[in-house]
This record gives sequence, structure tokens and C-alpha cells, in this order.
Amino acid sequence: MSVSNIQMPQYNPLESMMIRFNEAARILGLDEQFATVLKAPDKVVIVNIPVTMDDGTIRVFEGYRVIHSVHLGPSKGGIRYSMDVHLDEVKALAAWMTWKCAVVNIPYGGAKGGIKCDPRSMSRGELERLTRGYTLAMKDVFGEDSDIPAPDMGTGQQEMAWILDEYSKIRGHNSWGVVTGKPLVMGGSLGRVEATGRGVMVSARSAMARLGIKPTEATCVVQGFGNVGSISAKLIEELGVKIVGISDISGGYYNPGGIDIQSALSYVANSETRSLEGFAGGSKVSNSELLTLPCDVLVPAAMEDQITPENAHLIKAKLIVEGANGPTTAQADPILNEKGILVVPDILANAGGVTVSYFEWVQNRLGYYWTEERVHRRADRVMKQAFDNVFATAEKYKTSMRIAAYIVALDKVGSTLKLRGSF
Ligand code: NAD
Repeated sequence: MSVSNIQMPQYNPLESMMIRFNEAARILGLDEQFATVLKAPDKVVIVNIPVTMDDGTIRVFEGYRVIHSVHLGPSKGGIRYSMDVHLDEVKALAAWMTWKCAVVNIPYGGAKGGIKCDPRSMSRGELERLTRGYTLAMKDVFGEDSDIPAPDMGTGQQEMAWILDEYSKIRGHNSWGVVTGKPLVMGGSLGRVEATGRGVMVSARSAMARLGIKPTEATCVVQGFGNVGSISAKLIEELGVKIVGISDISGGYYNPGGIDIQSALSYVANSETRSLEGFAGGSKVSNSELLTLPCDVLVPAAMEDQITPENAHLIKAKLIVEGANGPTTAQADPILNEKGILVVPDILANAGGVTVSYFEWVQNRLGYYWTEERVHRRADRVMKQAFDNVFATAEKYKTSMRIAAYIVALDKVGSTLKLRGSF
């Protein structure tokens, strides 16, 4: 199927990104010519990857890598395996990586990759052949100093290990820093697995303090129970917050008395489907009902376009901390703002992952590995400083934290672009 034939979803994350970009550029007074440069990705690579399936047939998978910008450093961004992957989504995710790295002040540009596939229905061997095929196809795109992938939805440490191995074979030596989110024994960093969820927790803690919400008196609902959602839920629970709702692809689970996150984690780890399907720790609700449950803090940590003009007015939370990328459509922003809900935007709230990916890459380049305590301490500091900076920017420009985060990012990338002047 050609890209242009793919049916676009009702909301387009690229459009949502552009609406926020334009608003921030207007407030900041960003030169229109620089804005034009920053709106377009530097490079879009589309590959077709033939894979021999276990039954002997050959299937061809479409894969993407979008390099949005390399103005602040090598491009950085995860790889997503999902049937919903489409080019506009990857372009939006790549641009968000540029803004995210700038918001937390790490020396990277932005990129994102994706393969249209259903990883849950594929065997380990099929996934390995697909991942190696994608790496081979991207051998001139990836590089320690040019473009550094990482995990995203549907990928994790094992896929990163295959990428490192395949890329190192092609180069003829181990290139530890070509990918992050690796297993510890292959140059991974302590603290990387929990980094995104930990950053979400630090953001939630900072925002609750600003709003005067006491964690021990607060309730929270988390959408998505994968890497980001489950770890966010666990660490927010450790602050003393009662987690009253969780969900994953199997649906939502609500318990006003509180859900024990450790038992939910154990349930998923031991379940055949690796999901919450059949979890008895809460009554079943739909994923859309979950978002409008009564709570103080809502953490969407599953996927894009979950909070829309259709449900934004029904949301009861006082605070939304975006663990996922693009969970709120641009059209829902004004509704949430009008309701007085504080939204800690994705490009700030989930930046803990890329921050520790950067630490992993630094450790790979140094050949010297940090303690977990050091990783957490430095990442927490980065997240707290970024939160305070965005909060102060929002106050200065009398705007939302989302637009403020874009202002911080556009200011940094725009002024670098001006100084470099490479066009
Ligand atoms: P994951 O694959 O580990 O988990 C995704 C979770 O969402 C799963 O529990 C899945 O069942 C659930 N889910 C899928 N569709 C759903 C639906 N329709 N309703 C409710 N739940 C649904 O992925 P992840 O790495 O946790 O990523 C989640 C989000 O966080 C994505 O938007 C991703 O881009 C973003 N993110 C991830 C990282 C990271 O380090 N992994 C960093 C920054 C941002």
C-alpha cells in the first residue's frame, strides 16, 4: 500500500504539533523564515523490508525514519512497532523529539522511526529478522554522531540489542553509542528502563506542589500500562498518591479504594497475554470512561489523540501529566485551559527517557559507567529545572505550560539556527 493510500485517523498529530508551533512562534516573534525551516523535517527515509516469516512466506514491511533536525546535535528518537504507524505520525514524533531535547537542554536534534507491523502477533525470530532488516536499510542513517535510535511503543531492550549487533557487524566494530535503551550487559545504563516514568513522577510531584495538592490526599488515573504507564503509576503511588484507575489495550480498571500497582505489575508479568485482561483489582471500565473518572491527577501514557474536543469537557482531573507523546489534540487544548486544568505537556513530562538515553550515550563514549543513584539524581535535577523553566516561561508570557514549552524549545533551536546560518 502506498503512503498516500493509507487512511488517515480523525486527528492528525502533525497538525496538532503545527498548531502549537505556530502559536509559540507568534508569541516568541520567531522569524518567519526560520519557522519555515523548522517546520519541515530535514530528511524522510522510507524503506520496504522483506522478511521470511516462520511459515516460509516472505512479507514486506514498510519502515520509516524521519530526521527532523540536527541543529543542536545528532538526531535522537525511538522506533515504534505498531499497525497504526503512518508517516505524518512519525513526522510529528520526530519534531516533538527536537522540541523535547531542547526543553531539557540536552545536545541532540530530533528523529523518530516506525515500522507498520503487529509485534504481538509476530514470533521472536520474525521480530529479529525484521529489526535486523530495518537496521541494514538504515545503515547510512544511524550513527553514533548522526542519528541514535531508542525504544518506543512495541519495542524494548531486545530490539535495541539486535540493532546494536547488526549495526556493529556492518561497521566491523562494536558501536555502543549507536542506540540507547540497550540491555545493561550491552552498554545500557542503570535507570534507563524507569527513566520516562520517573520523569513523569518528578513532573507530577512538581506540578502538585505548585497547585497545593498534597500527594497523600490525592488520587490518580493512569492510561496505558506499558513501560511509561506502569512505572509512572508505581512511582506516583510511592509518593503516597492513591492510584484509582489503570488501563491498557484490554480496557480500564477502576477502584476508588486504590489499586495496588505491584500486584497489577505481577499480574501482567504472569499473564499469558502480558496484559491486564482479567485483572480483578478493579471494576472494568472502557478506556474512554477511564479518562473522565473522578481524580486529581490524570496521566495519559498510552498513545496519541486520547483527549479530544469530544471528551475534554468531561475530564475531572485538576492536573494532566502527559506520559505519552501527543495524547491531547490541539483542538482540546483551549477546553482544558478554560477549565483551569494544568497540563504538563509531553515534550516536558516524558523527557526523562531521552535524558537518561543521553546519559547512556555519554557513558558509552566515556567507557565509564555510573551508579543508579547518580543517574536518578542527575535526571531528576534535569527534569526539575526544565519544569521550573517552563513554568516560569508560562507565567512570563501568560500562556499554558504547553505553549511555554514550545517557546523554550523554539527560542533555543531558532537562535542556534540563526547562529549556524547554514543555508
Ligand atoms: P508500551 O508499548 O510499553 O506500552 C503502551 C501501553 O499502552 C500498553 O500497556 C498498551 O496495552 C497500552 N495501549 C495501547 N493502546 C491503547 C488504548 N487504545 N487504550 C489504552 N491503552 C492502550 O509503550 P511505552 O514505551 O510505554 O510508550 C507509551 C507512550 O509513551 C507512547 O506515546 C510513547 O511514544 C511515549 N514515550 C515513551 C518513552 C519510552 O521511553 N518508552 C519515552 C517518551 C515517550
